[in-house]
Amino acid sequence: MSNKYDVIVIGSGPAGYVAAIRAAQLGLKTACVEKWRDKDGKGVNGGTCLNVGCIPSKALLDSSHKYHEAHAAFGGHGISTGDVQIDVPSMIKRKDKIVKQMNSGISGLFKANKVDSLFGSGKLLAGKKVQVIDADGNESVYEAENVILASGSVPVNIPPAPVDGEVIVDSTGALEFQEVPERLGVIGAGVIGLELGSVWGRLGSKVVCLEALDSFLAIMDQTIAKEAKKILTKQGLDIRLSCRVTGTEVVEKGGKKEVVVTYTDQDGKDATETFDKLIVCVGRRPFTDGLLSEDCGVKLDERGSIYVNDLCSTSAPGVWAIGDVVRGPMLAHKGSEEGVMVAERIAGEKTVMNYDIIPNVIYTHPEIAAVGKTEEQLKADGEEYKVGTFPFIAIGRAVAADEGEGMVKMIAHEKTDRVLGCHIVGPNAADLVQQVAIAMEFGSTAEDIGLTVFGHPTFSEAVKEAALAVNGHAIHMPNRKKR
Ligand code: FAD
Ligand code: AMP
Repeated sequence: MSNKYDVIVIGSGPAGYVAAIRAAQLGLKTACVEKWRDKDGKGVNGGTCLNVGCIPSKALLDSSHKYHEAHAAFGGHGISTGDVQIDVPSMIKRKDKIVKQMNSGISGLFKANKVDSLFGSGKLLAGKKVQVIDADGNESVYEAENVILASGSVPVNIPPAPVDGEVIVDSTGALEFQEVPERLGVIGAGVIGLELGSVWGRLGSKVVCLEALDSFLAIMDQTIAKEAKKILTKQGLDIRLSCRVTGTEVVEKGGKKEVVVTYTDQDGKDATETFDKLIVCVGRRPFTDGLLSEDCGVKLDERGSIYVNDLCSTSAPGVWAIGDVVRGPMLAHKGSEEGVMVAERIAGEKTVMNYDIIPNVIYTHPEIAAVGKTEEQLKADGEEYKVGTFPFIAIGRAVAADEGEGMVKMIAHEKTDRVLGCHIVGPNAADLVQQVAIAMEFGSTAEDIGLTVFGHPTFSEAVKEAALAVNGHAIHMPNRKKR
């Protein structure tokens, strides 16, 4: 193997592996360095997303949803199942199998595209050299015309709740419980906290989410956030806002460990709550430990992210950075698109990325999904806008599926009618919002979506009706304003 490359990517998460594949497709000699090891100590590609993030969390969300349906919903369809049981170790094993399958999928793609996979810790040295130290401590140095840094992010730790991996865990630990905790605490009612709280709540945990902020899902459109909070609370998630965790103590009781959590409550008073497990989900931070030599020329910003411009160039010529380690939302698909943009730029193309249209999904049930601007953002920007909302309860397909909760909210420019945002809590919200993202990429108006023929009966009809409602033309509900 020669030690000279056109492109070396450090990190094989969804940002890095996509960049590597695209670079290789464009004829560039490419290597991807990865230090992740699986439970058997084998080097694997895929990063947080594949190993401990998007994919395993969705595997457990799907398993727990099926259990919950069998337990609580099948009866309504006339299906009796007897006493439904959950075998947690089997559920976790299934999740591990899925992760393995996807790991080998990426290895297969690397082989097919002739990307060299280098397992070890990568460090950027001056002059676009990359040092790789493998699991046995062997050092190699490679040279590249271009280096792409894609080292991702790790969970944030907070001093009041130090993760011990047993009673107090982070998101990774919460994917490994071998039994259903009776009392489960979650610090942070954000995206990851709500997903993991939902998994264990559906399986029977009594879940309390302690959230420091006074508004729920502060960055989402608040009409949708309020509706989502109502639905999730009805499902049994005890979401307590304005509750800041200030301390934890792990104690033994009856031969079992539990954790006493202290927090300041909504009234500013000290309160405590005891849990069998506590998940700390207070966000993620960019990860650059051991990545950069002092003289490599790459600068960090004030948040510890690698500083990049709009095209993901760092402060060092020929060095790029993408994904969670740079500014912007920490989402797998955002990093992947940056990876494509950078690979194509290196190959001499003029690709740019549209940061204004990045869908964002929370995989609760029902899902919560958004694209574009929220009403709150538009108000703050002084934009003129109009809104159409449509509830799933008026959609035949949703009623037939017992999925009538939630709504679609479409926002368009008051004068041009151009769609500015779409926010959904409801069945298949992730896929529905994607339809609007495509429409927005093509500069669609609300009228364009309203004039599109939608299949019947589909959940998607709620998107069409919300678009019609923007201009007062919804068919399956009375319109507040007629235009
Ligand atoms: P990562 O996926 O973090 O990958 C970085 C890789 O770089 C890692 O494999 C790491 O080992 C490697 N690395 C770091 N430093 C070095 C080095 N010096 N040498 C060699 N290798 C190195 N996002 C979504 O879009 N949708 C979701 O549904 C979703 N669900 C999530 C659920 C959970 C529980 C979590 C934790 C995250 C979730 N995310 C989700 C976020 C998503 O996982 C991240 O946004 C995404 O993984 C970031 O991709 P990345 O390639 O930038 O970094
Ligand atoms: P996200 O950024 O979506 O992962 O959400 C993380 C959430 O954790 C945010 O809503 C924070 O407000 C919340 N958070 C951070 N620190 C604390 C704390 N000490 N107690 C409770 N919630 C917290």
